[in-house]
Amino acid sequence: MSSSGQQSPEPPTAPGPKVAFVYADELSQYQLSPEHPLRPIRLRHMQELMQSSGLLDLPNVSRPVPRPATRAEIESGHDPEYVSIVEAISNGAIAPGKGEFGLGTPDNPTRPGMYDTTALCVGTVLVAGELVVSGEADIGFAPAGGVHHHAMRRHASGFGVFNDAVIAMNMMVDAGLRVAYVDIDCHHGDGVQAGHYDSDRVLTISIHESGQWLFPGTGHVQETGSGDGAGYSVNVPLAPYTQDAGWHAAFDAVIPDLVRAFNPDVLFTQLGIDTHFQDPLTHLSLTTQGFNLAVDKLRKLASEIGKWVAVGGGGYDLSAVARAWTMALATMANFDLPDDVPESFTSLAGDSLGGDSLGGARKFADAPPPPNEHRHLAEIQQHNSQTLDEVRSLIFPKFGL
Ligand SMILES: [Zn+2]
Repeated sequence: MSSSGQQSPEPPTAPGPKVAFVYADELSQYQLSPEHPLRPIRLRHMQELMQSSGLLDLPNVSRPVPRPATRAEIESGHDPEYVSIVEAISNGAIAPGKGEFGLGTPDNPTRPGMYDTTALCVGTVLVAGELVVSGEADIGFAPAGGVHHHAMRRHASGFGVFNDAVIAMNMMVDAGLRVAYVDIDCHHGDGVQAGHYDSDRVLTISIHESGQWLFPGTGHVQETGSGDGAGYSVNVPLAPYTQDAGWHAAFDAVIPDLVRAFNPDVLFTQLGIDTHFQDPLTHLSLTTQGFNLAVDKLRKLASEIGKWVAVGGGGYDLSAVARAWTMALATMANFDLPDDVPESFTSLAGDSLGGDSLGGARKFADAPPPPNEHRHLAEIQQHNSQTLDEVRSLIFPKFGL
């Protein structure tokens, strides 16, 4: 208060980027089957941690209400016959067939309501994309999306039914935009690559554990696109047990320069956190802080481009998912999180997150993972440096690098 009795102006605050966080809590209730490793409750824990950390009340974070994707939008990425089959199974009109559409398998069990829930999941990504394309938001984050990145035009795969990233990027391409897609999930983003394999309007880059060791068995450097899309599919397969430093060395060597050379209108990122060292399905060894450093690098790239849509992805350690995506939203919103997770999450972690997920859960950042007992560091480095050499020789000349 000044001596004149007039109220002092509020101190200026740096205006953070406008972030649209698009999520529907009903997506956290959609359990594929009792024993399925994709436990959608991970989204509930994530949202609760974001809320208790104050992120969802920030003035620069909006929470638009999502809508389901329309049939026409879904068919922009999928064969109409397959879409009809998903709908009929979902309604109970027919039983899942054996094989042809990839439905009714252990990875992709069917259940009532599958169509509507998946359409809503796709809709969260479309709303995030629409707000970014229109300029109403600088960043759109739809964390329930991305997990469908294996879904193909005519079949379900790897927990994915309708490929939200393919569908949302189709919308952007139809609007005349060029999109750089960066997929940091531990698995190759094969469905997204296939959805845009012939296109020079979408550059897809996937950095992942090599298909030599992990599902879906693809994502080799030699998969570079076809037709007009030749050179616009980029793969960076890494050795199992690669840790933060090796992963970031590969990221830095390939991704920023290629995205800048492509000069997109939109950056679209898939932020799977199954790269985490505690993830039960995979073998890369990243920490939450290693993951968030990648998000921060993507944020800097996105700020040069002006438009950023981010989706979630894989992630099967519940504590890592909640902490990593909360850290990601804080990075997007330019908000400093404290070191410690809120007390409410710590008690939750001891309750429903399971004993396997408790290590390091008192803090957002992990303690360093245990020393690598599986592979010699030199062996990992040799594999990864060979990958980078191949990317440089096969892809970089196309972009004048
Ligand atoms: Zn994955």
